[in-house]
Amino acid sequence: MLQVTRWSPDTCGCILEYEWDDTLEASARTHSFKKAVKLCEHHKALLGAKAFDQVMSENTRKNTVLGEIQKIKPDITLEDYTWSFDANRKLKVGFLGKLKAGEKSSLQSLCDNEFGVNKIEVI
Ligand SMILES: [Zn+2]
Repeated sequence: MLQVTRWSPDTCGCILEYEWDDTLEASARTHSFKKAVKLCEHHKALLGAKAFDQVMSENTRKNTVLGEIQKIKPDITLEDYTWSFDANRKLKVGFLGKLKAGEKSSLQSLCDNEFGVNKIEVI
C-alpha cells in the first residue's frame, strides 16, 4: 500500500511529503512527490514537484560527496565533513584540512563529472 513520509531535509528548511509503495522491494521503490508542507526561502519560487526534485537533488549531492571522498580517502568520516550551499545553491564541501592538494583536485574532478561543473566546490 502507499505510504506517505514527511521529510525535513538537512540541506534546507523545506518540509515535504512523498509517497512510496511498501509492496515493492526496497530497490524498486520510488519516492513520488505528494505535497509541500513548507517551502524554504530557496525553493518557495518553485512549484511543489519541482521543489521536491530540487531539494532531493541537493540532498543527494551532499550525501554522495562523502561516499566519493571515502573511495579516495577511506579514513574520512562524517565528522570531518563540512558543507554549505551558497546563494546560487552551489554546494561547498570541506574536510577540516585533511585532504592533500591532489586529493582535493581528484574529488573536484569526480564531482564535476558526476554533477556538472559549478555544482560543487571542494574548498
Ligand atoms: Zn528548501
